[in-house]
Amino acid sequence: MRSILPEDWTLPAVDELNEAFFTSGRILLQSCAGCGTIQHPPEEICHRCQGTEFETRESSGRGTVYSYTVIHHPAHPKLAQSVPYAVVLVSLDDFPDVRITGNVLNRAFDGVSIGLPVRAVWEEIKTKNGAVYRLPQWEVVE
Ligand SMILES: [Zn+2]
Repeated sequence: MRSILPEDWTLPAVDELNEAFFTSGRILLQSCAGCGTIQHPPEEICHRCQGTEFETRESSGRGTVYSYTVIHHPAHPKLAQSVPYAVVLVSLDDFPDVRITGNVLNRAFDGVSIGLPVRAVWEEIKTKNGAVYRLPQWEVVE
């Protein structure tokens, strides 16, 4: 699989709300304890009922490409080696209202299309201070 992001790319800012999503190697979603709404990315308040108590739900990590765009111009010099590449928006099979961005690692940009079945895979990154990130990405289910 081909990583799109350079090795020294800036990592997400992890906080108590999103730490599990970026480090667990699982698709963990925030579910409102009051109304059951699943929302992503996680927030301090439910978008539907303004509740502040949440539970965690796990997705199977299977989904389909809901939309995508192809990047031809590197927005940062470190991405010059990666263009062109596709950024996909994946709708999860078990939580179709949740859409997660990423890259498809086992297809070139011109092999990505809407409706393509994908599954989550993780790019594991160890930082110099010992933290381990597991960033969700996607691969086409053959
Ligand atoms: Zn709610």
